[in-house]
Amino acid sequence: MSYTALYRKWRPKVFEDLIGQKAIVDTLRSQIERGKFGHAYIFSGTRGTGKTSTAKILARAINCPERKDYNPCNKCEICLSILDETLMDVIEMDAASNNGVDDIRELRENVKYPPSRSKYKVYIIDEVHMLSTSAFNALLKTLEEPPEYAVFILATTEPHKIPATIQSRCQQFEFKRVGKEDLMERMQLICESQGMVYETQALDKIINRADGAVRDALSLLDRCLTSTADLLRAEDVDRILGLIGVDFMMDLIDQIGRRERNLVLDSLNQLSVSGANLQSFCRDMTLAFRDVMVTAAAPDHPEMLKFSGLMPDRVKAQAKMFGLNGAVKLLEALSMIENQIKYAQNPLIFLETGLLKAMTPASIAAADAIERLEKLEAELFALKRLMASGEGLSISGSNNTIADEHPAYQASKPEILNPNSRLEPILSESKSASDSVIQAEKAEQKKTDEISSTSSALDPEKVLRLWPEILLYLQKNNGRVYAFLVDGTPLKMDKGRLVVGFKAVHDLHIKKLSEEPNRIVIEEAFRSVVGHPVGFMIEVIPDKGSISGPSTEDRIKSLLGDMADLLEIQDK
Ligand SMILES: [Zn+2]
Repeated sequence: MSYTALYRKWRPKVFEDLIGQKAIVDTLRSQIERGKFGHAYIFSGTRGTGKTSTAKILARAINCPERKDYNPCNKCEICLSILDETLMDVIEMDAASNNGVDDIRELRENVKYPPSRSKYKVYIIDEVHMLSTSAFNALLKTLEEPPEYAVFILATTEPHKIPATIQSRCQQFEFKRVGKEDLMERMQLICESQGMVYETQALDKIINRADGAVRDALSLLDRCLTSTADLLRAEDVDRILGLIGVDFMMDLIDQIGRRERNLVLDSLNQLSVSGANLQSFCRDMTLAFRDVMVTAAAPDHPEMLKFSGLMPDRVKAQAKMFGLNGAVKLLEALSMIENQIKYAQNPLIFLETGLLKAMTPASIAAADAIERLEKLEAELFALKRLMASGEGLSISGSNNTIADEHPAYQASKPEILNPNSRLEPILSESKSASDSVIQAEKAEQKKTDEISSTSSALDPEKVLRLWPEILLYLQKNNGRVYAFLVDGTPLKMDKGRLVVGFKAVHDLHIKKLSEEPNRIVIEEAFRSVVGHPVGFMIEVIPDKGSISGPSTEDRIKSLLGDMADLLEIQDK
């Protein structure tokens, strides 16, 4: 027995089989029941949403002599001959290949003859927007005086291209993209009927890719089911659906970040040759870049990743490469590209030019410069505040310094300047997580005694307050060490040593900063800024809930404003 494609096998046969188009189905059912259906319809909507299937059910329902209520029986001679496309009275025409005035003239001739076997002659014209102007004019004449027995169903993905004169003579139904729940329910039913066990996440991936088109979802499911044994896993879906898997996307993002134009063009070409839907590719890429942006803003929240959740390390590297502003720039570019290719004849060109443009040094460098500027601004505010509080200087007349109004600075202030006494019990429970730290501590022991004896006059509060200045000094003199130290939080002074806390996930930071040469650099920075020798010590902070104050999610939201809502940042 030959294999029947799922979308054929599961093609809706009665109105109840149609998913996600309840309003349309309800209207048509009631028209059929009352015998008051129209003689010309426009079914519009994106591909694979059920336009043609609905047209065919309607054609059978109005012709079936055995009809009960509103559904065709699908068993009588008429129904069966419509189902196997042998009934001459139901004419299906593809306007994409029959778009000339001659084709429509032929149709007009045909309309003159009453139906041979059924009650109504039904003309289903697919992609009707492809008709030429003269063909539309010829069609209009028929629609102006249609014979009683003729019903026209014009299906289109681009209703705005249909002349108003035609539109005004038709009942219009707009088919929506099918919702995720509806699609999920249908696909689960199909999998179960095929005896296929599946991971829900696998179906999720297919549904995301199909973007509300039932036919696409079933074709994709078909490809997956024929290529897997008896369990459909999420990773299989990535592999089977080919190029647009996570790996391909990650490679492409790396290429963009490294500005490897040749490779980017190669990848896009591969994509286009593979027949991938470039619009849904754009959507996937937007999800992937959202992950980069979220990671740039909150590096330690892999649970917030939506597309690349399985590769948090790779996303982290990309976040470093693009920075927050770079990622936002790319997101803006992608949303523009997605709009452009919606109606484009050759979407690849828009994708290529859009991405190349976003990759120009000017746009990435500008984003990078803005980011650095913002960082410097925050540090400058911190310094001004220090001067205001430490030296008794007032920057503005009011009690609030300008720093208080800077949200980014405000969010980090409690951790940097005033280690909260409430945190003490939690922090005292923290213990060293890695051997390297313990070794570093031992090595430090001797040195500490020297330092503490020479720095009895050291004011612990003052050292803590100088933290931003220490970072600034390091940023100028040793960018590498700065890059690691900046993620730490100064906790307290302990026997002449400044204790800096790092979360356990920062194991690389801890390892690097424990290395002797880097420790020397840090202690030199301490001495230069504080004016006395100060030791350096790392303490590992337990990961969850150790620091009170605004959650990372809230901080991102306040940083990004409405954009965060737009991109659905969720802390699952
Ligand atoms: Zn029938």
